Amino acid sequence: MIDASLRRRVIERASNRYEYCRLSQEHELFGTFHIEHIIAKQHGGEDGEGNLCLACSSCNLHKGPNVAGIDPGSGDLVALFHPRNHRWGEHFEWRGALLAPKTPTASATILVLGINLPENVEHRESLIAEGVFP
Ligand SMILES: [Zn+2]
Repeated sequence: MIDASLRRRVIERASNRYEYCRLSQEHELFGTFHIEHIIAKQHGGEDGEGNLCLACSSCNLHKGPNVAGIDPGSGDLVALFHPRNHRWGEHFEWRGALLAPKTPTASATILVLGINLPENVEHRESLIAEGVFP
């Protein structure tokens, strides 16, 4: 169970930024942030800090219980990006409002989580135009 203090620690550790798509909480489009189980409980994931991250509702809902995806380049099954074990900057980079993958893990994560879906790209374009993103 995730109590209020654990929830607060996860949010503070993320500095109010979503750990997949890097939006700030204040720029959330729909609803509110989610405390995400990186490895879903269904796969034995626990409620400890090492398995939790801060995610936006779009990333969270698309990810669901997935822990892996298909790298579109090779067709291989690869593990999704793990915000605690992987460094964001080694896997992803911004090309304008598009999130560009540097690794097969990143390619699969962008697809499964819908990070470059048109509504998300348009949202980031407007934030870039306002000068508040990335
Ligand atoms: Zn997100």
